[in-house]
Amino acid sequence: MKDKRKVLVTGGAGFIGSHLTERLIELGHEVFVIDNLWTGRLSNLEKVQNSGRFHLIVDTILNESVMNELIFKVDHIYHLAAAVGVKNIMDHPVETLDINVKGTETVLRLANRFKKKVLIASTSEIYGKHVEHTLSEDDNRVMGTVKKRRWAYACSKTLDEFLALAYYDEKKLPVVIARLFNTVGPRQTGQYGMVLPNFVQSALLEKPITVYGDGTQTRSFTHVKDVVWALTNLMEEPRAEGDVFNVGNDHEITINDLAEKVKEMTGSESPIEHIPYEKAYGPGFEDMERRCPNIEKIRNLIGFNPTYDIDAIIQSVIDYFKE
Ligand code: UDP
Repeated sequence: MKDKRKVLVTGGAGFIGSHLTERLIELGHEVFVIDNLWTGRLSNLEKVQNSGRFHLIVDTILNESVMNELIFKVDHIYHLAAAVGVKNIMDHPVETLDINVKGTETVLRLANRFKKKVLIASTSEIYGKHVEHTLSEDDNRVMGTVKKRRWAYACSKTLDEFLALAYYDEKKLPVVIARLFNTVGPRQTGQYGMVLPNFVQSALLEKPITVYGDGTQTRSFTHVKDVVWALTNLMEEPRAEGDVFNVGNDHEITINDLAEKVKEMTGSESPIEHIPYEKAYGPGFEDMERRCPNIEKIRNLIGFNPTYDIDAIIQSVIDYFKE
């Protein structure tokens, strides 16, 4: 990337946001992070805080005057600020909808005021309950009932995508949408329910590894460094504008096999226990049986090819927690 830019990362103190911020600084850009530290942490930014090209604003993206000034100043916006973690989303339904709907609306409206390019971080959750095949960008979405709280998150992120595409079509705002599949790696905390940090921490502490449901559900995990590569390259690719891309790894694993692998790779004696979903998340929860991306589209456009396989991914998380 030859051009040095001013870049805004919303949610830049979060797990993915902080890795993205580091990479953007490495590439020579000047980076502004806005984060309200709901789930983001200042410690995530230790590596960049003394770089002369890093600026932190601790505030909510709902603060219009702050956002107006920031967006006016920068060339590009990576919009990652959102409610994260299934457990968090189940526990805070109002905040989830508020930040995901109003936050993205604010970012897009102000970006349009100054015609600044935006990359929206979306999620594989928006595909819903598909089981039959790997997920392609133009697939239909299969949503559950409004009585199950999880779907509020999926619907709020879907609305963000609709809004971004509407700004592109109607207002000619340059936008790109990245649908992230399960992203993992160093700095992800188990606090908000994510499976891999929880399994690794339990294994290292010789505590039970708790698999929710029967463990036959599958996920496809992508290392955060591969995700960051995809985001920065999508942002710089003009042909990605006005379009949606899966960002993930197409290797699938059952949660039972993940638990076994973590146990083996940590050399842990932890028992693997199965517990019902209601006990883990409370009533009104519905899981996705399967979630695996088709990544042809992003591979063809920017040559995306995940470099971390599942063993390397797990090892990087083990190393992180051992540190
Ligand atoms: N899960 C589990 N034990 C945990 C946390 C999660 O068995 O301690 C399961 C969860 O029910 C889901 C999968 O692991 O089937 C992935 O969960 P995560 O919250 O990491 O991501 P998502 O559900 O958003 O894919």
